[in-house]
Amino acid sequence: MAKWVYLFKEGNATMKNLLGGKGANLAEMTNLGLPVPQGFTITTEACTQYYEDDQQINDEIMGQIMDAIVKMEEITGKKFGDTENPLLVSVRSGARASMPGMMDTILNLGLNEEVVDVIAAKSGNPRWAWDCYRRFIQMYSDVVMEVGKKYFEELIDKMKADRGVTQDVELTADDLKELANQFKAEYKEKLGQDFPTDPKEQLMGAIKAVFRSWDNPRANVYRRDNDIPYSWGTAVNVQMMAFGNMGETSGTGVAFTRNPATGEKKLMGEFLMNAQGEDVVAGVRTPQHIDQLKDVMPEVYDQFVEICHTLEDHYRDMQDMEFTIEDKHLYMLQTRNGKRTAAAALKIACDLVDEGMITEDKAVLMIDPRNLDSLLHPQFDANAVKAATPIARALAAAPGAASGKVVFTADDAKAWAEKGEKIVLVRLETSPEDIEGMKAAQGILTARGGMTSHAAVVARGMGTCCVSGCSDIVMDEENKVFKLGGKEYHEGDVISFDGTTGNIYDGALPTVDATIAGEFGRIMEWADKYRTMKVRTNADTPEDAKKARELGAEGIGLCRTEHMFFAGDRIDAFREMICADTLEEREAALAKILPVQQGDFEALYEALEGNPVTIRFLDPPLHEFVPTEEDDIKKLADAQGKTVERIKEIIDGLHEFNPMMGHRGLRLAVTYPEIAKMQTSAVIRAAINVKKAHPDWTIKPEIMIPLAGDKKELAYVKKFVVETADAEIAAAGSDMEYEVGTMIEIPRAALTADEIAKEAEFFCFGTNDLTQMTYGFSRDDAGKFLDAYYDAKIFESDPFSRLDQDGVGKLMKMAIELGKKTRPELHIGICGEHGGDPTSVEFCNTIGLDYVSCSPFRVPIAKLAAAQAALNSK
Ligand code: PEP
Ligand code: MG
Repeated sequence: MAKWVYLFKEGNATMKNLLGGKGANLAEMTNLGLPVPQGFTITTEACTQYYEDDQQINDEIMGQIMDAIVKMEEITGKKFGDTENPLLVSVRSGARASMPGMMDTILNLGLNEEVVDVIAAKSGNPRWAWDCYRRFIQMYSDVVMEVGKKYFEELIDKMKADRGVTQDVELTADDLKELANQFKAEYKEKLGQDFPTDPKEQLMGAIKAVFRSWDNPRANVYRRDNDIPYSWGTAVNVQMMAFGNMGETSGTGVAFTRNPATGEKKLMGEFLMNAQGEDVVAGVRTPQHIDQLKDVMPEVYDQFVEICHTLEDHYRDMQDMEFTIEDKHLYMLQTRNGKRTAAAALKIACDLVDEGMITEDKAVLMIDPRNLDSLLHPQFDANAVKAATPIARALAAAPGAASGKVVFTADDAKAWAEKGEKIVLVRLETSPEDIEGMKAAQGILTARGGMTSHAAVVARGMGTCCVSGCSDIVMDEENKVFKLGGKEYHEGDVISFDGTTGNIYDGALPTVDATIAGEFGRIMEWADKYRTMKVRTNADTPEDAKKARELGAEGIGLCRTEHMFFAGDRIDAFREMICADTLEEREAALAKILPVQQGDFEALYEALEGNPVTIRFLDPPLHEFVPTEEDDIKKLADAQGKTVERIKEIIDGLHEFNPMMGHRGLRLAVTYPEIAKMQTSAVIRAAINVKKAHPDWTIKPEIMIPLAGDKKELAYVKKFVVETADAEIAAAGSDMEYEVGTMIEIPRAALTADEIAKEAEFFCFGTNDLTQMTYGFSRDDAGKFLDAYYDAKIFESDPFSRLDQDGVGKLMKMAIELGKKTRPELHIGICGEHGGDPTSVEFCNTIGLDYVSCSPFRVPIAKLAAAQAALNSK
């Protein structure tokens, strides 16, 4: 028979998966001899079983809970529902990974009118007894029966008004007794049944409610944001109550052994006398700083400080603790490794190493790579965020904080920014044309698009805050107005949004500049020692490349050459190339583009100082580049000596029903070899020039052909790329070596990777397209239905953000195995968005990739994740 229930004394800290964090640590504290009110933990597996049994607690689990109650009664000498010495308990959730505030808690369980009379008489403190009872009815009604807090709060407010008092603590025992009766009447009116008096019935209701809270909407969102699988379930802890609300010699509080905001080594926390846990968080009364406990109860304070030392020494990490003082006796209700800001995480890790508490590899492992994000972008002032209420939420597509005046077009964004205005660009969706406006903006908000939409990818690359796919927006781009949160926003109105949470706010929120503390460098140095996989960057411009180098990139894994065409008047020549009617016209336009592109590539090679640079040839469907405004169409017509009608005809001809599966990638090179030839010349000439200037640098161009699906199409394109490259090298009298490789973005390429590898000297997984084509989900539109997939528990995360290891990952493994069979020296990387996602990076390490490539601002994250993957695989 499975064991579903553990007494605290039966567990320990290593049993987190089974007992949850809280349960395992309560057991560990019990083993350490600390003052822990005793109880038992119902396992996370029981929670999973509860869901498998259609949200019922089966007889076996029920039986073990009942046995545990008997044992708990023996340990405490108290009895459930007893009229001599009644046992009262708390029922709390506790998942493997802490999810603060996401799930439910019930306190003071076991009370009924008879028991209240007993504890009132025995304690000589009827006020306390009735306070416990009214709290219990309130919590049980809210959490277990979902009646809603507000009805009870209204009754409390009314009572206070009737009595002419403002504080809960001013209500008398009789007032509280009357309130309890009013609460029960409210319960009966709302639910048509009496409030339960049997403690065992109350307990089963509470346990079920905690299991159920695993599936509440805020817990689901939290799990998705924090990579916590739904399948883990939560444990439930049933613990003897310690009462902080027994009078002025009782109290309750929370404390951290170090400052969770800064990492400073100093006890931080607060407490409230004559209160229960929820009073501290509810903020009705202002708590006192933990240091003041020294004056209020010096002995308890000293004992608490000693326990803090014991716990930190034991866990070798900053602890976050909850405690209660019941009539001068201190009880520990919880300890866990405290949540902390990124800056605090770095400082604490370095301090612990310096204090000899942990080794460098442990320091590397204790930092959540995702947290580093916040160090790399400006952030909203934390207090301002606390005080503000979001008007909507969108996908948190690119981190950072944006606050500014709303503009609706990229041109306006540029123009307003040039006038010195801080602006945010709000669009239905963005296209590559908008890039300059996006650069000028503090942030980008789009109504459509997912995590790999154009706006999201480009914004992350630029390090600009972006929230995308805000489906609540009612957008009228033409009239420059949108509706959100019941308000109309016009050009110039100010909004703010947070690219880390996806929250959108009315008005301006103050920002603080990102600071990289000295510890950041130390941690990255340690990470580099343990890391085996390289980290490159996706950089399209020399500026991006420089930024990425500053952040530690070891090469460029993807340069999307098309992004180079939007600056200044470059787009003109590019459009002439697209709208050419003859080969001659196209070659004339390409001749204008060649030196510009060569210059860009030279700047890239300069920025990378001899580190590898992979340049990908033109990829997107051409219609993305053509003008849409009448003025621009006219300009293009004039430049080419064509009529406006002819240009419009050509543009119409580029229309495709399914452009992402259309005329793009190497298909462009098959139809217009002259484009790939021009790009080859630009790459080789740039490389030769830079090599001449820096003979000691290793420069070996990596030319990457996108979107191959068939060996023959790759061979076709590769042939003239090689001919062109060889001719350039011969003409320059150089001995430059180069490689031609391909992206693996189409399932067929993965399935036939042994054949593809006959032509490709390297592979790079383009997992944006590979995910799109493996699932058959449009990468730009999946956001429209992903919420439904989360709600239905089909998906736990966005497959465009976190690699689908079972499906896409299987194709990757297959491609690596097949590719290396043909060409053992094949080097392989990834440059889809997943290259910067820590979980996906770990997978890439496991399957043996040589490098991941990600946007510049994610380089430190990927490096840390790669180091952790290497350490974990040992
Ligand atoms: C990819 O498909 O993963 C990729 C990197 O290419 P792009 O996003 O430019 O299509
Ligand atoms: Mg692609």
